Amino acid sequence: MSRLLIKGGTVHTADAAHRMVSDVLIEDGLIVGFSPDAPDAEVIDATGTLVLPGFVNPHWHEMFALRYPFKGALRPPSDRDDKPAFMAHGGDIPAISMAFDRFYGLVDALTDDEALAVARYSLWTQLRSGVTTLGDVGSVNKPAALAQAAREFGMRLSVSAWAGDTACGRRTRDTDEVLARVAALMDLQDAFVRVRPTAVYGTNMTDELGSGLRDLCARHDLPFAAHVGALRNETEAMRAWFGTSPVRRFADLGLLDERFTAVHCAFADPEERDLLVRAGAHITHSPAKYGPAGESTLTETRQIPALRAAGLDVSLSTDGASTPVPGMAENMTAAWQAYTEMAADPTALLPSDALAMATRIAARGLGFADVGSLEVGKRADLVLIRADDWRYLLNPRPLEAFLTLGGSADVETVIVNGQVVKADESALREDYLEALRSFSVRCLGVELP
Ligand SMILES: [Zn+2]
Repeated sequence: MSRLLIKGGTVHTADAAHRMVSDVLIEDGLIVGFSPDAPDAEVIDATGTLVLPGFVNPHWHEMFALRYPFKGALRPPSDRDDKPAFMAHGGDIPAISMAFDRFYGLVDALTDDEALAVARYSLWTQLRSGVTTLGDVGSVNKPAALAQAAREFGMRLSVSAWAGDTACGRRTRDTDEVLARVAALMDLQDAFVRVRPTAVYGTNMTDELGSGLRDLCARHDLPFAAHVGALRNETEAMRAWFGTSPVRRFADLGLLDERFTAVHCAFADPEERDLLVRAGAHITHSPAKYGPAGESTLTETRQIPALRAAGLDVSLSTDGASTPVPGMAENMTAAWQAYTEMAADPTALLPSDALAMATRIAARGLGFADVGSLEVGKRADLVLIRADDWRYLLNPRPLEAFLTLGGSADVETVIVNGQVVKADESALREDYLEALRSFSVRCLGVELP
């Protein structure tokens, strides 16, 4: 039996009562108590340290294979000639639909070795930022590679497949082929990996695919997630291509229930908002990434805070891109700043509320019952952040100071399953760069010296 005591920290348990304690006792990977008395335990001195549950990121995409061509490594160093990208000004839905459809084929183009090297490095950037449980909403990578990387790191992963069979109202591939790819995910399930089918975007899903995904979820008792109501121009495109509006369409297909995670759900009419509330859907969003992507998801409609006020679970998540996006820490800060500003009320969202949205509430949306808060019997996934420099001087609330002046790079120690995470980051990076070069030259037409 292994016993580990995290002693003398400022510990936010993120349980339903937002309880704070000083010590966490771990036995064989599980939390067993909060007493400092454990004579035979190995001790981590957490004096001057902020201790949080491992972050749960329910909406992420592994896209690191695209780092050269997509708003990535081939850009000029100066930003002076930048133009708004396709998410900007309400969204260029046809362009997004075409790009998302193209990604489907790129998953197969990666070799297994390339896929694994990219997956390891990409998951590592999440883990070193404090994320111990991840929810994939469609990745340009092989699900088996993501599952293997998660197992190697001891992370929890909700795995998915890039699922789309139409673009701009025209069918682009056989629906059964896509459904077979999603059904094959079931073989990956184990103690670390679970399956959550996703439709990457309603605009890329035929009714036939939607019905097939609904049947698959019902057959295997699975949750489901999709980007929906994410962009202002989405409704118009959905009406033109499918004859109905985004949220209503998921409801009509039988996919909108309490196990549905609606990602970035900012645009919906009053009746659709009512459908979401009555279904008890989970909402997740990524407030730190909207501005730089050209999205107005929070302030244009203020719908997400309204859905939270109406009683829905609203969680935080990072989203994903070819370069690292803001982490869970940055999204907590952004939510804290934006919700309070929109309400003109500093109590509209407290730092401890932001933490719950990044941990316990996110875990509930993902359907992982044994992570997301520090409670007896739960898995010992923890994040330790040093909180004793100038930013924290005489502040009795280190979480507040962390959200004011800290970020992902301040995460010092990550514990998964009661074990301190260690990895050779430079080796992971070199393997990633080699795989990225070979894939980009062979499959993306990138010319490199
Ligand atoms: Zn996303």
